[in-house]
Amino acid sequence: MADPRGFLTTPVRENAPRRPVPVRIKDWREVYEPVEPGVLSRQAGRCMDCGIPFCHNGCPLGNLIPEWNDLTRRGDFREAIEQLHATNNFPEFTGKLCPAPCEAACVLGINQDPVTIKLVEESIIERAWDEGWVQPLPPERLTGKTVAVIGSGPAGLAAAQQLTRAGHTVAVYERDDALGGLMRYGVPEYKMEKRHIDRRIKQMEAEGTRFRTGVDVGGDVDAARLADRYDAVVMAVGALQPRELDVPGRQLHGVLQAMEFLPQGNKLALGQPVPDSVPAEKRLTAEGKDVIIIGAGDTGADCLGTVLRQNPRSVTQLAIGPTPPPDRTGNQPWPTYPLVFRTSSAHEEGGERVYTASTTELVDDGQGGVAALRMVEVVRHPDRTYTVVEGSERELPAQLVLLALGFSGVEKMPMVEQLGLEVGRDGALVRDEGWQSSRPGTFVVGDAGRGASLIVWAIAEGRACAAAVDEFLTGRPSTLPAPVTPSARPLVV
Ligand SMILES: Cc1cc2nc3c(=O)[nH]c(=O)nc-3n(C[C@H](O)[C@H](O)[C@H](O)COP(=O)(O)OP(=O)(O)OC[C@H]3O[C@@H](n4cnc5c(N)ncnc54)[C@H](O)[C@@H]3O)c2cc1C
Ligand code: SF4
Repeated sequence: MADPRGFLTTPVRENAPRRPVPVRIKDWREVYEPVEPGVLSRQAGRCMDCGIPFCHNGCPLGNLIPEWNDLTRRGDFREAIEQLHATNNFPEFTGKLCPAPCEAACVLGINQDPVTIKLVEESIIERAWDEGWVQPLPPERLTGKTVAVIGSGPAGLAAAQQLTRAGHTVAVYERDDALGGLMRYGVPEYKMEKRHIDRRIKQMEAEGTRFRTGVDVGGDVDAARLADRYDAVVMAVGALQPRELDVPGRQLHGVLQAMEFLPQGNKLALGQPVPDSVPAEKRLTAEGKDVIIIGAGDTGADCLGTVLRQNPRSVTQLAIGPTPPPDRTGNQPWPTYPLVFRTSSAHEEGGERVYTASTTELVDDGQGGVAALRMVEVVRHPDRTYTVVEGSERELPAQLVLLALGFSGVEKMPMVEQLGLEVGRDGALVRDEGWQSSRPGTFVVGDAGRGASLIVWAIAEGRACAAAVDEFLTGRPSTLPAPVTPSARPLVV
């Protein structure tokens, strides 16, 4: 039973403090600091345990939020982590990185600040790791069935952990030199230190999951031949085909896709060398440069925080759309996830944001490198077309331009053809409501099937897909949970 007066006695939402900007931009450590136990208990106590907990629906994993809020309020972290792990394999990933659609759906959020659900989630799992409560859960018996999971992002890892625990023998193939997918080389160290991934991998290895890094399936090994060696295959290859900027000068030296730049930043953050596979002309840092980031989404913000830690001369982030509203508008009602003006930790650290900016050209420095970006101001109309504001053309100096324009589906790679997989018009791999692709016994999960999305969706899909694979392998209804369907969509505007 929740504290019926908690939201009255603690009316103010208090989140984890961020380290001071001048200190944190000098290192790569995480931005947020832990909160005092008293603060946590009071914040968890603001949860009203509503008759219909909309937060629970807002979370794709169906996390049992009111239950663990109350357990946290009472200080029963041992039971809280049991409840949290019952629906989420990796609460530390979501606790640190989720945009928290649950909080947008919190009933208290109708007329007060919502409960700090994400903070409570992260605090429970951190306490559990500290206390040694997170232990390997190997299966009691093996089924003799084998599964290849291709891709080690959150979707692949969640599917692999569920299937291993169900007794199947699972091998995860990853072409990068380290595991974790976009969480490893996309998400910057200051948002989530990579040691959090490493300790989960250790747990999974102890449970019996096997990992093969540095294997490009379809390149290093023929995908069809590899698939034939397994009873089932799970395609968890992400949606890593970047959108392009089609303007003159795109080919200039110094213009990089975000996912060409961020992995290098993550390597440098950990004092590791940039791999030999990165060509010399693409080995770039922001040091001493005027940097322009095109794209106002989360990937753009991650580029901003990374650039700011590399001592640039200036940083500007361009967005083609108008400045988002400060609060929910009439067409963004509760409990949807609203598109409002947000200040991420990176925005707090520096850089300028320019809205209604459309790039028209990248200017040559005379030696094949980029020297400047030419842009115009645009007006967006209700039908989402744009017109240029006359006389608004201007030039911004730029020796490094980063493209953070989103992704258009699964990368064009030989594996797709080798397995004869169907690709939809949206660039995602086609799958049915049982998570199977056009090739029987080959399943599609995470961004590869949904399009670029979120970690919470990837984990939810990984869990649900594992249930479908288990059923396929055993011929019996699975006891594994299936929190989402392939066609489930988030509550966003
Ligand atoms: C820069 C950036 C920051 C982000 N930050 C956040 C955030 O803060 N919060 C959030 O919720 N979401 C965030 N996202 C989105 C989130 O990371 C993705 O939605 C999520 O990682 C998708 O998981 P996935 O397992 O489907 O795929 P991915 O994480 O993309 O993993 C796919 C894996 O498959 C591997 N692979 C691909 N092809 C092959 C092959 N042929 N052989 C072997 N391996 C292969 C890839 O190397 C990769 O490791 C971010 C995305 C980006 C780009
Ligand atoms: S996973 Fe995300 S949506 Fe679910 S409870 Fe945690 S922060 Fe909220």
